[in-house]
Amino acid sequence: MSFFDAIVIGAGPAGVFSAYALRGKRVLLLDVGHRPPASPVLEGNLYELRKSREDLFEAMIGGKFEGLHNLVDRNISLKLKSPLMAYVVRDSERLAPVVSDTFDAVISLAQGGLANAWGAGVYRFTARDLEGWPVSLAELDPFYDELTRHIGVSGAADDLAPYFGSATDLLPPLRLSVFAQQLLNRYNQRKRYFNRRGILVGYPRLAVLTVGRPGRDAYAYDNLEFFRPGNPAIYNPAFTLAEMVDAGRVVYRPGCLAMRYREAATHVEVTARSLTDDSLETFQGKTLLLAAGALNSARIVLESSGDYESRLPILDNPMSCIPLFRLSRVGAPLDVHDSSLAQLNVVYDAPETSELVQATLYASTGPLRSDVLFQLPMSVSANLAFAKYVAPAMGVLMVFHPERPRPGNCMRLRADGALEVHYDTPPRGRVEGRLIRAFRRAGAFSSRRICQYPRMGNGLHYAGTIPMKQVPGRYEVDRNGLLWGAKRVYVVDGACFPVLPAKNLTFTIMANAMRVATRVRSALECDC
Ligand SMILES: Cc1cc2nc3c(=O)[nH]c(=O)nc-3n(C[C@H](O)[C@H](O)[C@H](O)COP(=O)(O)OP(=O)(O)OC[C@H]3O[C@@H](n4cnc5c(N)ncnc54)[C@H](O)[C@@H]3O)c2cc1C
Repeated sequence: MSFFDAIVIGAGPAGVFSAYALRGKRVLLLDVGHRPPASPVLEGNLYELRKSREDLFEAMIGGKFEGLHNLVDRNISLKLKSPLMAYVVRDSERLAPVVSDTFDAVISLAQGGLANAWGAGVYRFTARDLEGWPVSLAELDPFYDELTRHIGVSGAADDLAPYFGSATDLLPPLRLSVFAQQLLNRYNQRKRYFNRRGILVGYPRLAVLTVGRPGRDAYAYDNLEFFRPGNPAIYNPAFTLAEMVDAGRVVYRPGCLAMRYREAATHVEVTARSLTDDSLETFQGKTLLLAAGALNSARIVLESSGDYESRLPILDNPMSCIPLFRLSRVGAPLDVHDSSLAQLNVVYDAPETSELVQATLYASTGPLRSDVLFQLPMSVSANLAFAKYVAPAMGVLMVFHPERPRPGNCMRLRADGALEVHYDTPPRGRVEGRLIRAFRRAGAFSSRRICQYPRMGNGLHYAGTIPMKQVPGRYEVDRNGLLWGAKRVYVVDGACFPVLPAKNLTFTIMANAMRVATRVRSALECDC
């Protein structure tokens, strides 16, 4: 049996970037590691494909009608249900079950994790976002800088820079859709009105190339994000993993479901189930880094303790969706070379409270029309016509609220292996009302009555199950990610976030994983 310096469980953003920071060490990366299907491949542009291809049924709807999932089953992210994207969540209900009446969990067992489907929004936390953390911004900044150069981040030094941090090394922002450009122009004309109300608008920061690099072309505005995996312009941790494997920097073992670990005086031993023949295999290393996603890392910790009673905290950003309409664009031609990626960001820094809320504006041209079919109050044909003519006039503002641990929001591992989650729905609507009122000044209309408030879990920002504390207790980690009571086990994914600002969290997951792994690497060097 080989002996490794470090075993990393999981090949999502956290696992890949902890392995990346462990350079020079013997690293084993254990992963379930599902991959996208090899075919059929969608090449080109969504609208041109619709015209030129006789039949897109297999790619868009699928032989098992996967694309129509939300018509008959619980709503899942539109990106996760199309046939070519379904691998992202494949087998998760069977191999990593979560039961809940109050929380919609989405778990990925794919190489690259949930970031196979992510919107690639990458936001540095600011000192204000890190309140409640035992880690300072100065400790994360060098890793944000390194990540920015490594993955390629587009964006701008605009009104949102005080909230998004350093703009050094950013690539130019993506071209905006007509809808978003008009909204930004109106904001710029009425900036004083918006800023007095604590509202700022600017470009998003996206891990999307607007300038090509060797092996990764620049984004081509194909509008296929909902249907096609593996666009090289949109960063996926699987890219970095492939580079590390090719360079012999990590040993990657897909097809392994890590079950539990056991710590001994000189090493830690991980037991994993082979998904090829169901056999159990053990692996030994000097240290273990848990990066299986906030829910699965907690599952592994509880299973390793044989603890089916304790309740651990859980966090996700409460979210809401505000449809915005610019009436002058009803019936306008669709922008064929468009994008389903984030167009603009809105920060609401309420002057009267300390509340800080962040929202992202998306165009509505990416999803299938059937996705809105039953959300509108008219007949099927009227709804379809409405969707066709109104799509160019519509944007969706996805609002994230901050979150902190609350006593009722918790999860426990059941003896049958399922995680049981309870999450109380927080009230939402006040901020949404304020944003709606303000955006009328930008010529964009909406109403609180048509806002949607998805169930908890749909924020897809899972965190806080094994939080980082200055003085940790049981099922907590210290500021270096070391699990309480352990000498060799570290938690490097969102599980260790003590609170969640209203911001996409993955850039900080990656930066923090690098920070922790860099310390582990130094400690391993002292060991030698
Ligand atoms: C539709 C969508 C859009 C999103 N958009 C954004 C965005 O714009 N910005 C942003 O910041 N975040 C976004 N997110 C969230 C982001 O993808 C996650 O925060 C991020 O992927 C979490 O990284 P992770 O490495 O902690 O875990 P995951 O991505 O969940 O990866 C977990 C890894 O662990 C492996 N694994 C799990 N359990 C085991 C086990 N027992 N044994 C072996 N391997 C295991 C899996 O195979 C996988 O490789 C989005 C998510 C979705 C679904």
